[in-house]
Amino acid sequence: MSELKQFHLKTLRCFQSQTIRTATAAVYMLLGALPVEAEIHKKQLSLLYSILASENTKLKNLLERQMTVNARNSDSFFSRTQEILMYYNLPTISEFKDQLSSKIQWKKDINRSIADKWSTILQKEMEEKSTLKRCNIQMLKIHEVHPVWRTLPPLTFEVKKANIKARFLTGTYLLQEHIQRFTGNTEEQKCQLCQIEKEDMLHFMLRCPALNEQRQKVLPELKQRIVNTIGQKKWHEHFNGNKELLMQTIIDCTKLEKNIPTINQETAIEIEKNKQKAVL
Ligand SMILES: [Zn+2]
Repeated sequence: MSELKQFHLKTLRCFQSQTIRTATAAVYMLLGALPVEAEIHKKQLSLLYSILASENTKLKNLLERQMTVNARNSDSFFSRTQEILMYYNLPTISEFKDQLSSKIQWKKDINRSIADKWSTILQKEMEEKSTLKRCNIQMLKIHEVHPVWRTLPPLTFEVKKANIKARFLTGTYLLQEHIQRFTGNTEEQKCQLCQIEKEDMLHFMLRCPALNEQRQKVLPELKQRIVNTIGQKKWHEHFNGNKELLMQTIIDCTKLEKNIPTINQETAIEIEKNKQKAVL
């Protein structure tokens, strides 16, 4: 199981060009993917439904016998399945046996319970990671893909840009500040493009003169988009002197709703799409 889990995680990480330093929960949640153990739970519960719905008397007798004799044996399929049902706060096998819904309804209920449970677990794990402070964690749900991937046009160049964006989102894009953190040598922390000051997130995103030309292709349009939504006055109120908020907008504008309620999820996704057209 552990090997399977590692393989699955490595595959999801590779899809997104994420590094080994990316928080595990973020690897799942940016894609809205379930961990492999939850996928196995789904299969087990699907098999349980087939047994419960079967008209085969032998199978029904086997179920009764196993539930009586092997109720506490953790190697038994039924005992293990009972534990899975409890884990997801679902009714017991006996309760299902008494009142079995249609297969479509069953699948819907099970999938929803599993997705809700894992959304909560993974969101909580993400909240504990300081690298993910710029990521809008509450928006992430199982079966929902983050806009960084969802709004992506199918072009190699766009995918490369999105890979970098996803690294900013998960706090794993390596800047000189991180690379040289342990050397203590402030000279070496300098931005290699301009050699003027330390290369940290603020420098890279908003200050580096070497990237000014690229920035000018993006920021005025981004600003205009936000001004169109909230008005010039609100723009000054929120963004003047607030470089952190501007960085947040560039990295994950879906989190702006907390500061500026008028930028709701729908507007944020539109801004995100617009950003895809530009360089950042
Ligand atoms: Zn620089």
